[in-house]
Amino acid sequence: MTPIYLDHNATTPVDPEVIEAMLPYLGETFGNASSVHQFGRSAKVALERSREQIAAFINCEPSELTFTSGGTESDNLAVMGIGYANRERRNHLIVGAAEHHAVLESAEFLHHKEGFGLDLLPVDREGFSSTAALEKLVTDRTALVSVMLANNETGAIQDIPALARVAHHRGTLMHTDAVQAVGKVKVDVKELDVDLLSLTAHKIYGPKGIGALFVRQGIRVRPLLYGGSHEKKRRPGTENVAGAVGLAKALEVAGRRMHDDHETLRGLTNYFIDAVLSRIPDTVLNGPRENRLVQTANISFKGVQGEPVILSLDMENIAVASGSACTSGSTEPSHVLTAMGLAPEVALGAIRFSLGRSTTKEKLDHVLSVLGPIIERLRSMSPSRPSRV
Ligand SMILES: *Cc1c(COP(=O)(O)O)cnc(C)c1O
Repeated sequence: MTPIYLDHNATTPVDPEVIEAMLPYLGETFGNASSVHQFGRSAKVALERSREQIAAFINCEPSELTFTSGGTESDNLAVMGIGYANRERRNHLIVGAAEHHAVLESAEFLHHKEGFGLDLLPVDREGFSSTAALEKLVTDRTALVSVMLANNETGAIQDIPALARVAHHRGTLMHTDAVQAVGKVKVDVKELDVDLLSLTAHKIYGPKGIGALFVRQGIRVRPLLYGGSHEKKRRPGTENVAGAVGLAKALEVAGRRMHDDHETLRGLTNYFIDAVLSRIPDTVLNGPRENRLVQTANISFKGVQGEPVILSLDMENIAVASGSACTSGSTEPSHVLTAMGLAPEVALGAIRFSLGRSTTKEKLDHVLSVLGPIIERLRSMSPSRPSRV
């Protein structure tokens, strides 16, 4: 049986249409977009056309988009760029407790090394943050509130416009990490009412190493890098033209397929969740059933640890994740799940199944047929078998 990939929230294969669109910019149109000669100009045209396409996709101006190396850099530039640019008047930050490490650790850096105040916005059992909790934390010293649009571990989709309203009431800027959401659900910076937004290509069938940060017109961001005057000095470095073309094409394909992919994946994921919960005892779905990315199923198997489940499934040619890929190898429970109030032993038994365009019902049925016996075997080996609930 060919390997079954259920880890699309970690990364996705590049769509063939995207590869085809990128190829000329790795070959004959290889120029440096900053060069004035015809080689440079051709590259520049492709770069700016891509910027226009991406801007149209999220409803902003091309001038409001800065190309970066991906989600991590966009998140770092948002948090640190806003922090440093505003520190005289506002030296306090609020970030969601279930944010990606790229946001959490940037904020913690400013807190520990640069003296910024930092508060974590709590999440409830399903992973949602409330406006009431934000109202208690935000002050007129708060420079930035950063809350992700869709969570990479649970798929929970936050009510960003409501949180942005609370932030803006205090003159505080609002950033959202939309890396998991863009291309899967409608992302419109005006409807979301955000000042900054991060996205990356490789989670949506584009290439790795290219992303963008939306910064609303007129907002100052201190750069993280110094060098040339590329990207209006916000992000110097020779532009990744092929990557930008790939990001634009990946969004175009995602936009075209969004409705159909959403319907298909919602059906498949719900089928899978219901089957696991009904066939395997002592299992719980982590995160919300509604208001979530329809391709994400985070399920805890009580009485087992995630890591041996992943390895057993890998031996069966099935790829899944525990918690987030970035923390694999460590046996710490996921910070997202513990922030939601899960007991550490339940969080440690969490497996994230993230479906994608290659997923079929036949493949899921195969996964279901091997998953039950694996959990049973691991539980029988575990010294502390779960008490029945
Ligand atoms: C993957 C991911 C990132 C990091 O993006 P990279 O392009 O891999 O650096 C940031 N935030 C979220 C929510 C992600 O899922």
